[in-house]
Amino acid sequence: MKRFLLIDCNNFFVSCERVFNPALKNKPVIVLSSNDGCVIARSNEAKLLGIPMGIPAFQCADLVKKHNIQVFSSNFALYGDMSNRIMYTLAQYVTALEIYSIDEAFLFIPEVTQSEELNNFYYTEYAQFLRKKVLQHTGIPISIGIGPTKTLAKVANKIAKKNSEHNGVFDITHRDKDTILEQLDVRDIWGIGSRYAKFLHAYGIHTARDFMHSNEQWIKKKLTVFGHKTLLELRGVSCLHVEEITSEKKSITVSRSFGRSVTSYIELQESVAHYISMAAQKLRAQNMAAGVITVFIIF
Ligand SMILES: [Mg+2]
Repeated sequence: MKRFLLIDCNNFFVSCERVFNPALKNKPVIVLSSNDGCVIARSNEAKLLGIPMGIPAFQCADLVKKHNIQVFSSNFALYGDMSNRIMYTLAQYVTALEIYSIDEAFLFIPEVTQSEELNNFYYTEYAQFLRKKVLQHTGIPISIGIGPTKTLAKVANKIAKKNSEHNGVFDITHRDKDTILEQLDVRDIWGIGSRYAKFLHAYGIHTARDFMHSNEQWIKKKLTVFGHKTLLELRGVSCLHVEEITSEKKSITVSRSFGRSVTSYIELQESVAHYISMAAQKLRAQNMAAGVITVFIIF
């Protein structure tokens, strides 16, 4: 069976800071948004101390002081540069790469052999190889989720990241999906988001497992075609493909969802600037020129 891989950098902004300041290893570290407003990245140590994502800095000042948490202002030029190095490293060893966000990329790998047993072994070993290369070349630790669809690869990535016994790689393909998806809130399914999650909760659909078993036609009606595709993807039917860049492309898309609201203009400005520079890089790599730039911002 073919596989999708989702590569995600661990605590990316914190990991970038640590590359240039190894003394920060094993210490609690947080990174604040551009205006030093909110926490936008946390090391595992800071997570364990109970610093929530997105909390305003002044609200965790006591915890910071008490545990001597190292605090950094965000440096998007540095993170963008590290992101490019990571994607460049990955590109050496893959055939189809989709840069999904500053610290995430999807890979597609066609079936390697007829033997599914050998495939299982191959994909996991290959993912471990990629982890090793990215760490060697950039110093950034990554986690890799593997699955028969993009949506399941996303789920697998969460498991790889949360449970250290998997050593950073988890393949969900032949696991018991009911047991795994039962532990996942419907909100945490890729693409569902908090608005649809609220709606689904109201209809008694609480977990990803509930969602997977819900009525296809009803989901299509209530959550549109995208929700329907997400449901099929959870069942193992691949509907979303790796958006590889090819020379025939008429447009280039660089997108990301923040996973939370962006309230500061400066943060928005820096993110948009970063994504435009990534798009420009892709454009140059293909010897193309852009006539129009469109920026979508969803409220
Ligand atoms: Mg990440």
